[in-house]
This record gives sequence, structure tokens and C-alpha cells, in this order.
Amino acid sequence: MKIDITDIILNTNRKEKYPVELDADFIEYGGTKYSISKKKPFDLRLNNKDDQKILISGETEVEVVFTCDRCLKEVRIAFPIMIERSLSLRDGHVVTDPDEEEDLFFEDHHLDVNRLIYDEILVDWPAKVLCKEDCKGLCSVCGHNLNESDCGCNRTVLDPRMAKFQDVFNEFKEV
Ligand SMILES: [Zn+2]
Ligand SMILES: [Zn+2]
Repeated sequence: MKIDITDIILNTNRKEKYPVELDADFIEYGGTKYSISKKKPFDLRLNNKDDQKILISGETEVEVVFTCDRCLKEVRIAFPIMIERSLSLRDGHVVTDPDEEEDLFFEDHHLDVNRLIYDEILVDWPAKVLCKEDCKGLCSVCGHNLNESDCGCNRTVLDPRMAKFQDVFNEFKEV
């Protein structure tokens, strides 16, 4: 969702509340799309501070659907979103540094609300997702979820070099 903030840019010390919401059903990260399972509308507060800066703030929450890295079970993670950003003003214009990724949420008098929210989510993006700390994962032989029960498969994967030793070992046993 994009909002036109021309009013704030042009009026000294103008304060405004904009009712906004994330208008996307998924978030893309590392080439993968993650569904958004919950989001809520909120007020984005803007404040033209002495024609020097535009202060942007707002709070909301977004829930994203992940899968457990070990057993692939669905895991929903809620991200508390705290937006505290600003734009610099000079002579009635927003000045953005083209080298500064920071300001990508602003373009042509408009604020990109989705981008503001994504930036907050990406900061807290989990490196690892587990359904529970001690998730046992899936059986490497039959794919059974080992959290539910043990399938009884022999999951001892042997290195081919180790297998030779095993043969020798078995021969000795037979003698
Ligand atoms: Zn799991
Ligand atoms: Zn199994």
C-alpha cells in the first residue's frame, strides 16, 4: 500500500495519522514466498518537524507461516512491528541518498507501507525455524515424523570406507 504524503511535506509542523495496512499475502525472502497468516490495520503517524525532517512511526503485528527445518510442520511466527523512521527535508523537498538503501520506502511523494513493514520483519528474520527445541525430524529412510513415534528403520548411514570395516567386523563375529 502506498500513501501520498505531499500534505506533510508542504506544511510546516503538520501532524497526520494515516490508517494503513499491509496489502500483501506473502513475503519473499531468499527466493521463497512465505504466506502471511495474520496482519492488522494500524495508524501510521507522520510529523513534519520544522521543515527539517518527516518523522514516521507506527506499531502493528504480522504473522508469517514457516515450516520446521527438521520435520516440515507448519510454524507460525508473529513479528511485532515497530516503525520508527525519518526522511530529511530541504527546501520543501524530501532529500534521499541514492546510495542509501534506507530510503527505498519513499518515492515520488509516496510512502511504501509494505516496504516499511518488510524492513522490520527482515531485521528479525529467523536463521533457523524449529517446531520445538528438540524436534526429532523426519526418518531419513521412510520419511516418518519421528516426533510422533519411531518407525523402526535402521538409520545408521555408513560411509563406504566404514562399511569395509563393518564387513571385517562381521566376519570376526561369525568365526
Ligand atoms: Zn519439527
Ligand atoms: Zn523410517
